Amino acid sequence: MVLIYTQNWDGKFKKLSYELVSYGVALAKQLSTEAVALSVGNVSQDELKTLGKYGAAKVVSVNDSKLDVFDNKIYSKLISQVAENFGAKVFVFAHNNEGKALAPRLAGKFKAAVVSGVSHLPKSVVPFIISKPVFTGKAYADIKINSEVKVLTLFQNSYGVHENSVQTTVEELNIEIATPSIKIIDKQRATGKVLLTDAEIVVSGGRGMKSPDNWAPLEQLAEVLGAATACSRPVSDEGWRPHAEHVGQTGKIIAPNVYFALGISGAIQHLGGVSNSKCIVAINSDKEAPIFEAADYGIIGDVHKILPELIEEVKKLRA
Ligand SMILES: Cc1cc2nc3c(=O)[nH]c(=O)nc-3n(C[C@H](O)[C@H](O)[C@H](O)COP(=O)(O)OP(=O)(O)OC[C@H]3O[C@@H](n4cnc5c(N)ncnc54)[C@H](O)[C@@H]3O)c2cc1C
Repeated sequence: MVLIYTQNWDGKFKKLSYELVSYGVALAKQLSTEAVALSVGNVSQDELKTLGKYGAAKVVSVNDSKLDVFDNKIYSKLISQVAENFGAKVFVFAHNNEGKALAPRLAGKFKAAVVSGVSHLPKSVVPFIISKPVFTGKAYADIKINSEVKVLTLFQNSYGVHENSVQTTVEELNIEIATPSIKIIDKQRATGKVLLTDAEIVVSGGRGMKSPDNWAPLEQLAEVLGAATACSRPVSDEGWRPHAEHVGQTGKIIAPNVYFALGISGAIQHLGGVSNSKCIVAINSDKEAPIFEAADYGIIGDVHKILPELIEEVKKLRA
């Protein structure tokens, strides 16, 4: 059985969970077994059933107020109980903070091999060989797993969301949950109106924006396009923008339809997080900037002069 660990935000699933389900269901098919999607936390029946649109025939839900705080120890114990209950042989997590925290604990418990950051289904299941991007996506490594139980973390926006409607049964499990040893003192929410990893259009700024005071036109462009905002790593390191906006090898991996790179050089570590975008539009004053090699459309010039004109043109088109 393939156990898919879904994540929800305030009781709602995001694109990430639908992608995990799409992947886990396809993997189960390849392995000629069934897939079970696990939901942790307070998620309504209607919301749980939305997983059926992506092939989840069975959804298991565990809800307890003690799960409001993500405590790795408690969550991994819960997942291992569910896995034992259903005889899970493969675990699928997202390749994000939560998934990367849980995967090794589960692997330790089940003496499983872990392949972190996969983007495709296995090349073969006997033997089990799966490839994963390495060197910031410049190459793929084929990994052969010999262990009976396997743990995979899936790069977000890599496999994609695939509709495959099925009838879904939801099972509520009552599992005793220990009191978390973690207390949340403060929560800072991402400020953007559109969730970055789910956004179809992303407007992103780099050091070429020169100062945090110059972000108003970038935000305005995002507003008129209905886009999310992002930034390069130095920009978030400088505190110009929140860390939640940092994209790249060490930040969020995104795959929007359109990615606007404004004053971003296009370093390999940056491209590692955005090169899956369907279309990249770059504005840079340096015609030799590496971003132009990755871009589908490029404008050579001063972003501060071009942005207001671009906003006006988009407004005209929208009108
Ligand atoms: C291990 C490691 C991991 C890393 N991970 C990441 C990561 O996840 N994400 C990431 O982004 N970086 C990452 N980096 C950093 C990365 O190598 C680059 O240093 C960084 O991406 C550069 O950011 P930038 O393009 O905003 O700044 P810069 O490299 O300073 O580029 C600024 C660009 O703006 C242009 N510009 C200047 N003025 C204007 C103007 N007026 N109009 C238009 N264009 C202008 C310049 O020509 C230049 O191309 C990582 C580095 C390391 C070593």
